[in-house]
Amino acid sequence: MKKVLVTGGAGYIGSHVVKQLGEKGYEILVIDNLSTGHKEAVLYGELQVVDLEEKDKVQKLVRDFQPDAVMHFAASIEVEESVRKPLKYYKNNTSNTINLLQILDEENINYFIFSSTAAVYGEPEKLPVKEDFPLNPINPYGQSKAFVEKILQDFNNAKKDFRYISLRYFNVAGADEKGRIGQSYKNPTHLITRALKTAKGEYEKLYIFGTDYPTPDGSCIRDFIHVDDLADAHIVALEYLFNGGESDIFNLGYGHGYSVKEVVNMAKKVTGIDFPVEEAPRRAGDPAVLIADNTKIRQKLGWKPKYDDLEYIIKTAWNWELNKRY
Ligand code: UDP
Repeated sequence: MKKVLVTGGAGYIGSHVVKQLGEKGYEILVIDNLSTGHKEAVLYGELQVVDLEEKDKVQKLVRDFQPDAVMHFAASIEVEESVRKPLKYYKNNTSNTINLLQILDEENINYFIFSSTAAVYGEPEKLPVKEDFPLNPINPYGQSKAFVEKILQDFNNAKKDFRYISLRYFNVAGADEKGRIGQSYKNPTHLITRALKTAKGEYEKLYIFGTDYPTPDGSCIRDFIHVDDLADAHIVALEYLFNGGESDIFNLGYGHGYSVKEVVNMAKKVTGIDFPVEEAPRRAGDPAVLIADNTKIRQKLGWKPKYDDLEYIIKTAWNWELNKRY
């Protein structure tokens, strides 16, 4: 069976991909610095705790493991923090990916799956967003990933045997249906997690950041995708490369969105708790609306979502929140 190295495999998205790779019988090595990940989240394969900054250590692990492909999730992911600490984002997301690509180059590993983000588009001119729209990130998080996309393109031009897929995630949420893994950050900033933790009483209230956006109810609109649909797309992309597919870039979202207020109402319905909500000023770096056009990944990779249902997404997240293992 093929061998896959997964960076950030102890994190929220990486751990769901590791679960699906493991279920399919892939041999897995996870490397993770556990800065936001958890060893309990790694359901399959081996975990080595190492930071991508430590290039020599990572290179030795790669040389010993001899992976057929690398899936790269290790990154910092908070838009608001990236505005305050841009260098952290350029270091962790851009510079550490260069380290990893140098290792791939030196060890001749030719298949690469990259976690990109809808934040590379910034404030799109038209909706839904297509892959060939211009990249105009409006925060350092999006820029740190857009830099990597450019680097990947240039690297691929220089190294013709190299094949990569870049997946631009919209808003990922939800948890494993069986409740084994889910999101677990010390200070979560994402909407659905914040809402559910407020319902649980961990926060006094939920702030709605911005109610003066040019949207029907004034709050931002996002395209929420269940983490297991997103994880499945990674396996589909990997197998596409293994079967001779060319390097490419795909959006990963459902193609329709919900406003922040609609999400809050659904969180209240699912939990049965009318938790306190307060309207607050806009958060730095937030575009008004982000919705994916997912035609390309459906057509070219044959990916099909299974959990396109906000209620299901929030139910699985709530089940995890109530029964967290880590
Ligand atoms: N949001 C909010 N309150 C929160 C967290 C998020 O109103 O406590 C809003 C945020 O301003 C954005 C949307 O929810 O408009 C999605 O934010 P999130 O951080 O979940 O994901 P992002 O789109 O930044 O990746």
